[in-house]
Amino acid sequence: MPSPFREEHDHFRKTVRLFAEKELAPFADEWEKAEIFPNEVFKRAGDLGIFGAHYPEEQGGAGGDYWFSVAKAEELVWGNSAGVTMGLLVQSDMATPVIGDLGTKEQIEEFLAPALRGEKIASLGVSEPNAGSDVAGIETIAKKDGDVYVINGAKTYITNGCRADFVTLLAKTNPEAGAHGCSFFLVPTKTKGFSVTGKLKKVGNHSSDTAELAFEDMRIPKRYLLGEENQGFMYLMQNFQTERLIACVSGCAGFAAALEKTIAFGRERKAFGKPIIKREYWQHKFVDLYSKLEAAKALTYKVVDQYNEERYVKKGPISFDTVKMISMAKIFVAETGTEIMDQCLQFHGGAGYIEEYFIGRAWRDQRLLRIGGGTTEVMRYYVAKLMGL
Ligand SMILES: Cc1cc2nc3c(=O)[nH]c(=O)nc-3n(C[C@H](O)[C@H](O)[C@H](O)COP(=O)(O)OP(=O)(O)OC[C@H]3O[C@@H](n4cnc5c(N)ncnc54)[C@H](O)[C@@H]3O)c2cc1C
Repeated sequence: MPSPFREEHDHFRKTVRLFAEKELAPFADEWEKAEIFPNEVFKRAGDLGIFGAHYPEEQGGAGGDYWFSVAKAEELVWGNSAGVTMGLLVQSDMATPVIGDLGTKEQIEEFLAPALRGEKIASLGVSEPNAGSDVAGIETIAKKDGDVYVINGAKTYITNGCRADFVTLLAKTNPEAGAHGCSFFLVPTKTKGFSVTGKLKKVGNHSSDTAELAFEDMRIPKRYLLGEENQGFMYLMQNFQTERLIACVSGCAGFAAALEKTIAFGRERKAFGKPIIKREYWQHKFVDLYSKLEAAKALTYKVVDQYNEERYVKKGPISFDTVKMISMAKIFVAETGTEIMDQCLQFHGGAGYIEEYFIGRAWRDQRLLRIGGGTTEVMRYYVAKLMGL
């Protein structure tokens, strides 16, 4: 496949790389310990045009194609913090694409455009204490009462949720109708009845905040309904694809960076009189890992190309074939990543188990990829269905 990147992409890529290396990486350890990164990082990323590069100009973006988002995700990994990357990608590729697709002019002005400028922090509220993989089982209710909806329920695992200005929220408007009774809302967190009930302690990605949220008789005007009532599940399935695809891109870039740093470690570390990278055992192991990474990246780029064609060239919905391919890519990238990171850690010996070295953190951070945004098992379940097995 010829390179999809043009001069404009390369220019943008350099901006993101500089931001990651100079403004994120030096603080990665501090933010990891604090278990949150500063809100100003969102503003700075917005000012640099990092969030909006792949959104249309009339929505506050720069009008670029999806390859800008790919370049962004690939360079953000040089900020050395998967938690920060995740927080920023939620802002641009997880909580907001559905607003770009369905938002009215007023909703775009009130929510999407300020999010792309980094002035408002966005979160995506789908998962609940009793429903994660089985999204149609959510229990948060939005009941119509004249000109308002009254929302009651709880969400969990919400990235950026501790400090978000709004939640792109999935709730039931017709509880009897299962998947056909879900609707999307834009919920300002200043609204009475909203509260952050907990900040979750995680195994990895410490610098991103992960919240439990509650909605108690929260009244929001009808104008905050996104798209049509009871179509939310269908919208979510489209939105999920963007989330999963960017996770694949970011994952591959993170694994490549980890391999590079691991091999540099192996050139310095000696055992039995020579650098450990000079052992044939490990050389062959790394050949295999690089081959698998290339395969994961090639699959991801193939699917990005398909997605870009459907969404940015034809400006239509994502086809079932692309949904299937994105799910396949998520399975393959996540499983490959687990193998790469585990071997990289092993190659470090005892150092791999010590916090001072980067690999321990990278190893536990990447583990999320097999869970977040749809588990590997659920991806397989969807692919099998789409293949008509
Ligand atoms: C750090 C972090 C950040 C997150 N950020 C967000 C966010 O911002 N917004 C948001 O809405 N959600 C978020 N999530 C939630 C995430 O998307 C869910 O955790 C994920 O979808 C899995 O749901 P669950 O945790 O309820 O697991 P469950 O659905 O309870 O699954 C438990 C196990 O059962 C398996 N399983 C379920 N169904 C099947 C099946 N049909 N066949 C085979 N096995 C099955 C699963 O694969 C898994 O192994 C986040 C999660 C984490 C950990």
